[in-house]
Amino acid sequence: YAFTRLVQAVQEVARAASSRVQVEHTPPSDSKPLPSSEPVYLGASSEETPVWAPRPLVEKANLKDYPAEYRRSLEQPEAFWGEWAERFHWFNPWKRVREVDGPYHRWFVGATTNITYNALDRHADGPRRNQLALMALAGDGTVHKLTYRELRDLAARLAGGLLSLGIKPGDRVAVYMPTGLEMALTFLACARIGAVHVAIPAGLGSQALRERLEDTQARLLVAADRMYQGGRTLHFSHVLEEAIQGLDIPVLWFSRGGAVRPLEFWDLIEAHRPTTPALPVDSEHPLFILYTSGSTGKPKGVVHVHGGYMVGITYHLRTLFDLKDGEISWATADLSWIVGHSYGLYAPLLEGLTTVLRAERLDYPDASSFYETLEDCGVNVLIISPTWLRTLRKHGDEFAQKAQLSDLRLVASVGEYLAPEIWHWAAKHLAHVVDHWWQTETGGPCLSTPVCMPAKPGKVGLPLPGVEVRVVDSLGRELPPGQKGHLVISQPFPHFMRTFWNNDERYLEQWSRIPGCYSTGDIAVRDKEGYIALLGRSDDVIKAGEMRIGTAEIEGAMLSHPSVAEVAAVGIPNPEVGEVIKVYVVLKTREASLEVRAILADKLQAHLRRQLGNIHLPTEVEILDQLPRTKSGKILRRLLKAQELGNDPGDLSTLEP
Ligand code: ATP
Ligand code: MG
Repeated sequence: YAFTRLVQAVQEVARAASSRVQVEHTPPSDSKPLPSSEPVYLGASSEETPVWAPRPLVEKANLKDYPAEYRRSLEQPEAFWGEWAERFHWFNPWKRVREVDGPYHRWFVGATTNITYNALDRHADGPRRNQLALMALAGDGTVHKLTYRELRDLAARLAGGLLSLGIKPGDRVAVYMPTGLEMALTFLACARIGAVHVAIPAGLGSQALRERLEDTQARLLVAADRMYQGGRTLHFSHVLEEAIQGLDIPVLWFSRGGAVRPLEFWDLIEAHRPTTPALPVDSEHPLFILYTSGSTGKPKGVVHVHGGYMVGITYHLRTLFDLKDGEISWATADLSWIVGHSYGLYAPLLEGLTTVLRAERLDYPDASSFYETLEDCGVNVLIISPTWLRTLRKHGDEFAQKAQLSDLRLVASVGEYLAPEIWHWAAKHLAHVVDHWWQTETGGPCLSTPVCMPAKPGKVGLPLPGVEVRVVDSLGRELPPGQKGHLVISQPFPHFMRTFWNNDERYLEQWSRIPGCYSTGDIAVRDKEGYIALLGRSDDVIKAGEMRIGTAEIEGAMLSHPSVAEVAAVGIPNPEVGEVIKVYVVLKTREASLEVRAILADKLQAHLRRQLGNIHLPTEVEILDQLPRTKSGKILRRLLKAQELGNDPGDLSTLEP
């Protein structure tokens, strides 16, 4: 088995590391880990200094023996997942833990359950009934704090309302709302009656919204008429009306200015009693369809189900995010993205914790507001994106230095490559950092460095329990450490998607692009100890002369320059060298004059070539005021490239205006 070799490698690093833990690398128990003075860049050298979490974190970690856990998860997947699943309520028990047939897979076969019974009723009717389930900070300053009982009752009332509108199990309900209580309630109410929620990021244009309504044949659209963000009011009524023109789809309105329409969100809740129970559904019953971010092309509708999703995401909440009973987590991602679904809402509720939802930008009116939310809500574990970490760093350290973050133990970063520079910044100013890699398709984290293992900034880390990955060439042959290749997943796990909605061919294609495995579309490299570094998207690999370079390698190197806040790298075809590495840079200060920018652009080129260890690399640097992003905060490199080449950029529905 490939994983046996990996486990051996991992055990070696764990042994080597634990012998070091007592001697040189363990920071004093009360201090944060010291950033290593020489950040290490991908491929730059093998002399990396692993960074340990502070000793109390390591000692109290929920997952203490990663290598043993990992091995067991792959050797005995049914026992492993079956045992974890026992923490939940199943109306009927399963006959088999899993059935795998090539790319198709079913988990907890024959069982019935309901994710909201486990996320709400189990706590609302038990000892946690008066514990806070959710703190929702709306863009207009409204703060909702709800106990498990209050949240369950509201969700049950709305579920009754949905039934009264004729929504049946399996019906798709589209949700176009800002992150907040109303959106959370809509998800929970849908799931409660077996309806399938389809979140569409608020602010998406009418054409894109209409396409998703048509693709999913949604029976109802639950929508906010406006949203408050960054000091502005964004009005959606027009977009919504245009999107549904000629479609037979009612709208349940959440009118922020007060009830003005015949079918109003809070009126519907008020009109129903909290008596609608969670409907027992098959473990494989669809829970939601969620479109991917659209970074590489047209978004795909990923399908997740009640049973396996609930089991898998909670496992990682406890073992990776290391949350303990009574604690508070905050996933800053919008609820309309997978991180919001899994870790803003479902996993913390399933585990009876308190989740924070916040609609406003993290730096509005200024960066202190981010730190205030951490302090005021007493956040223990923060789940955030590299984009936001880079932005917070750009705003300056003063804000962080003023903050009292005594509750914060862990910062989990996801969504894009986390450069060592940013890792160290966050570790110094916030708390120990856990980078983790996953996709909408995988439902939950796949690669990371649990706190019981030393972190290697710039490398995301090890495969998590239950997840078997490989780095392979295009024929599926495993590559040795140090060689770049395609990151693939060998086996489905409980929370892995079931298919793409209306596009099973695409699902099968991703399982056959490289024989015998699921292609993630990302390129990666493994080191001798099994740690994996993500180098970028396979579509974006730059072919400069003889070199094949991932965007992350270039961006990570460039971010080490003190003037640089943000970077995007793309390859521009060139007849002589294959591709020129074009690097777009956003500076920390915007005020630089044209002359200063020109000089700096030259210096940045020299810095980049030095960092990459090749002074002859064909590079070009352009300084921009900002980079194009998806609504989920990812750099849209394909747009930069299309603009440079004068090509059609393709689907831009998720571009942040
Ligand atoms: P689309 O599939 O529509 O092109 P997308 O891949 O950006 O969009 P998501 O599912 O939101 O949609 O994002 C998953 C991707 O994000 C991963 O495939 C990977 O490229 C990137 N990613 C996530 N976490 C990390 C990480 N820790 N390090 C590097 N890249 C990451
Ligand atoms: Mg993707």
